[in-house]
Amino acid sequence: MTDLELAHLHRRISQLKEEARKNEEAWKRAQARAMELLEADDLKTLLLRATDGLKAGYRLEASTLLVEDEDREIRNLLISEGARPEAFPAVIFVDSVASLVSFPARSPRPWLGTYIAAKHAPLFPGVDRLGSIALLPLVRRDRLFGSINMGSADPYRFTRRHATDFLQHLGIVAAFALENAANRARLVQSGLTDALTGWSNRHYLEARLQEELARCRREQTPLACLMIDVDHFKAVNDRFGHLVGDDVLRGVARRIGAEVRGSDVAARYGGEEFVVLLPGADAGAGAVLAERIRSRVAERPFDIGDGRPPLPVTVSIGVADLMSSAVADRDAAARLIARADAALYEAKAAGRNRVVLASGE
Ligand code: GH3
Ligand code: MG
Ligand code: MG
Repeated sequence: MTDLELAHLHRRISQLKEEARKNEEAWKRAQARAMELLEADDLKTLLLRATDGLKAGYRLEASTLLVEDEDREIRNLLISEGARPEAFPAVIFVDSVASLVSFPARSPRPWLGTYIAAKHAPLFPGVDRLGSIALLPLVRRDRLFGSINMGSADPYRFTRRHATDFLQHLGIVAAFALENAANRARLVQSGLTDALTGWSNRHYLEARLQEELARCRREQTPLACLMIDVDHFKAVNDRFGHLVGDDVLRGVARRIGAEVRGSDVAARYGGEEFVVLLPGADAGAGAVLAERIRSRVAERPFDIGDGRPPLPVTVSIGVADLMSSAVADRDAAARLIARADAALYEAKAAGRNRVVLASGE
């Protein structure tokens, strides 16, 4: 072999090495993105990761998500997670995906090519100056239900000559993650949510309480528990009927909710009983919140419609806490609830519309 040939060969080998390195990096990037999708805790996080997350991760001009949602279920699940569908401008909800994209095969591959405004603009609302795009089909059980739409200003970023393996993998993972997140949201909504108030129910609270106790143990922090009960609520039903009673309950829940932070756990525990858990707070801090809730409910009578005068409503609240040292045994959860309940009972006996702290353990 001549020197020239040898030099040529060396160059070719380093080129190949460089290509392999780039390929590996691309794989790693794709894997990281895919993991982020799989690890999204809820639907709203997933939707953000599948749009803004991919846009940032792949340095794109635009990345949108087209989702078929004819019965508005996905949007309703988002609402039940406390999010507004309008807060996701990069997610395009349509009655039928076929109106906006089509892929040739039954298990289709990503489509890469030149951006044609007349054809693709609806997939990239509010974005112009795109050069090339990649459309990743989202398929479950042989059915196309959406697409991830990546847009780059660079006309050569996505062309038909590019390998589509990474993108295909990402599309498969995204479809799976989306179905999973929707299923989880459905389960949560059906089994663990109270239909009247939209709050978590007792099942949820009991599950969360175990988690919070484990955290107390781990992080050596206290946990406060408020047990809230509407005063003389039976009289509301008796005087005005159950529908008015329901309205009042929703109103009370709203006023409690307005005082509770996102990191707290609020649940409808029983008929007209609510529980709030305050991770990291002791009974003193719990009593401060309890007093705010009590006065917020009592300060303004409730509108009960039909031209009737507004109805004064009050709540009584029992507060207990569990210090991290006391959470080791199996009955810790039941004991915390029982102590808050006993304090509530004292508040009732002392005349209602008040907050009582549980006596020490
Ligand atoms: P106290 O001050 O001692 O708590 O008196 P109370 O009348 O609130 O207590 P009690 O537990 O006797 O009554 C609770 C009432 O709440 C009885 C039940 O009919 C009513 N209730 C429970 N769940 C609902 C509901 O979902 N809707 C309506 N309208 N009423 C409910
Ligand atoms: Mg009660
Ligand atoms: Mg009551």
